[in-house]
Amino acid sequence: MTGPDLSALKPALPNIKNHGREALREEFKRAGLPAYRADQVMAWVYVRGVEDIDAMTDLPLDLRKRLAATWAVRALDLVDLQTSEDGTRKLVLETADHELLEAVLIPEERRNTLCVSTQVGCPLACSFCATGKLGLRRNLTVAEIVDQWARARAILSEDESITNVVFMGMGEPLLNLAAVKESIQIFSEPRTLGMAPRRITVSTSGVVPQIRPLLEIGPINLAISLHATTDEVRDELVPLNKRFPLEVLLGTLRQEELVSRKRPVFFEYTLMEGINDSLEDARRLSPLLEGIASKVNLIPMNSHDGSVYRAPKAAVCDAFAAEVHASGLRVTLRRNRGRDIDAACGQLAARTTSGQGHSSQPRSG
Ligand code: SAH
Ligand code: SF4
Repeated sequence: MTGPDLSALKPALPNIKNHGREALREEFKRAGLPAYRADQVMAWVYVRGVEDIDAMTDLPLDLRKRLAATWAVRALDLVDLQTSEDGTRKLVLETADHELLEAVLIPEERRNTLCVSTQVGCPLACSFCATGKLGLRRNLTVAEIVDQWARARAILSEDESITNVVFMGMGEPLLNLAAVKESIQIFSEPRTLGMAPRRITVSTSGVVPQIRPLLEIGPINLAISLHATTDEVRDELVPLNKRFPLEVLLGTLRQEELVSRKRPVFFEYTLMEGINDSLEDARRLSPLLEGIASKVNLIPMNSHDGSVYRAPKAAVCDAFAAEVHASGLRVTLRRNRGRDIDAACGQLAARTTSGQGHSSQPRSG
């Protein structure tokens, strides 16, 4: 892999990828340029994957020179790429101010899902999550969220594409809502990437006041990190539960406007041995989620350095899933992807550049 070329990041300049179509047209108009020039630039960047403004040959030469001097296109450098035994790829990415973050590309039979980060670290400190151990370093910009797509696209072959985006990487998306919404605009912009909203999923640990504002953007999928069936256990696992307890969170999801979206809510439930894996827990789920069109995703805990939690034995996970299924809920027990390279849920904890790291070898988990 070639080393990072940070000079190309041009941190002092405004970045094309910070703006959805409407906003970029406005920016161009303000600079005295016709709005369609913004469309041309976006087509180069997102459809053709060209980031060098000098190479945008349907723009007049003097305009290319002017834009290249005043705009940046890239926001991240790929500093490490690790491939798991199952084909999952983890991209370690560096911002212009030398923060590290991770994005994960998950190939499946008929789709390629990209899992993007929204913050460097996370302030919510869930007790089982590696990212939560970092605390919040800062929010990512729109360009840094969208550039995770660009860097991942660049490692795919010509005939492949990213079909789905999940906001399930580092950070809490609803604490960086404006940037998340603008990046969804960019991913779903019909003239360029045109990703259908149903191919986009935002996961939250339950920042209740921001759920409705998020869903104003359209029929995207909402995933809620539930992980427990009582406030007592959830307070331990997801400290945010003390501010927005189960009744408040689930009550919000039961409200008319959200129910009328006609899209199921995905509930993520990380199974932890001896903590939330009992059959009583399994039986409590269905009454708890009453009135919400739900799909439950069970994820066996991914252990990481410093975590005291473990995944239950396979038979316990299977029994839990069977019990949830028997109660009439739709449920899947997820296979862990990318576990051997610490790319699985909750294992994302890119080190800062001041720390050690950047091995190009997959770490054994
Ligand atoms: N902050 C958001 C999105 C990122 S976390 C949220 O919490 O929803 C993505 C998912 O991975 C969440 O459901 C999270 O609870 C789960 N997760 C975190 N740590 C995990 C771990 N060690 N094992 C399995 N899942 C984990
Ligand atoms: Fe933050 Fe989500 Fe990890 Fe909780 S699980 S610390 S909200 S990234």
